Amino acid sequence: MPLTFYRSEFSVEEREKMFENIWNARQEPYRVAPHVWMVSGHIDQSDFLIDTGDGLILIDTPQPEYDYALIDSIYKAGFKPSDIKLHLITHEHGDHDGAARLIKELSGCKIYMSRESWERKLHPVNRPMPKGRGVPHMGAVPEYEPDEFYDDDTPIKLGNITIRTLLTPGHTPGVTSFFFDDTDEKTGKTYHVGMHGGLGIDAMRPDRCGVEPWGATVEERDRYIDQCWELSMMDIDITLASHSNQANINANIPEDRNDYTPFIEPRAWPVMLLERRARVMEFRAGANTYYGNEKRM
Ligand SMILES: [Zn+2]
Repeated sequence: MPLTFYRSEFSVEEREKMFENIWNARQEPYRVAPHVWMVSGHIDQSDFLIDTGDGLILIDTPQPEYDYALIDSIYKAGFKPSDIKLHLITHEHGDHDGAARLIKELSGCKIYMSRESWERKLHPVNRPMPKGRGVPHMGAVPEYEPDEFYDDDTPIKLGNITIRTLLTPGHTPGVTSFFFDDTDEKTGKTYHVGMHGGLGIDAMRPDRCGVEPWGATVEERDRYIDQCWELSMMDIDITLASHSNQANINANIPEDRNDYTPFIEPRAWPVMLLERRARVMEFRAGANTYYGNEKRM
C-alpha cells in the first residue's frame, strides 16, 4: 500500500478512546528501515530502535505509563534492552523521555540530548493543555541526567550507523533531528533516513509566539519556517515520524511487520515539512488557524 503521506490526525472518537483507557493505545512493533524498528508500544508515540551491528541505539521513549510496552516491544522486535548502548532524546517532553531513566538503569547506556532541552528540563515551563488534549494519563517523568550534549558538527557513531544531529527549534528550543544512512545487506541498497524531532506548532501560534513562558520566540518561529524549507530539499528516502500518525504511518503499517519497504517514500519528507511550514507562515501572517483537535508533537 503506498503512503498517502499526508499527516493524518486522530479523530475526536479515536482520541476519546485513548483518554478513556490508556491500554487502547497499544501498538505492536514494526520495522521501518533495514535496521530500524518502531518500538514505542503506543499508537501515537514513535520510538526507534536501531541495530548498528555493535549494539543498539534507542531514539526517544514513550510516556512513563508505557514503560512495559516499550520493553515488551524491544523483545518482540528480537532485541534485548540491555544491549542499548546509546539513547538519543529528541526533546524534553514526557512523551519523548518518559523512560530515559529506566533504559539507563537497564542498560547502562549513554544518554544524549541537546543542551537547550536540558536547560528546559531544569527550568520547565507549564504548557496549558485543554481538557481532552495532550498526552492521556501522563504522569511525572522519573529523573535522569544526560551524559552528553549533541554537537551538530560531530556525528554519533556506533557500529554501521553514523547519525548526524541538527538542532531544529520551534516546537521547543531544544528539538533535535537525526539523519543517517541504512543499508539492506540483502539488496545492497542504501536508504537516507531522516527524523524531525518535533514538528508540533502550538508554541508558534500568533497568540503564543513571543509570549512567556512557553511560546516560541519570534526568532525561533522564523528559523522554523526557514529550516523546514531548507530541510525539505534533503534527499530522504525513509521518514521516521516523531509521532506515529505523521505521514499517515499508522494507516500504512503492512501486515508483515518485518517488511519496511512500504515506508520507502521520498515524497513523505518534503510534504510533511512544507505542510508544517505553510501552517506557521499563516501564523506569522496573523491567522490563528490552529485547530481544536490538533495533536501536539
Ligand atoms: Zn513535544
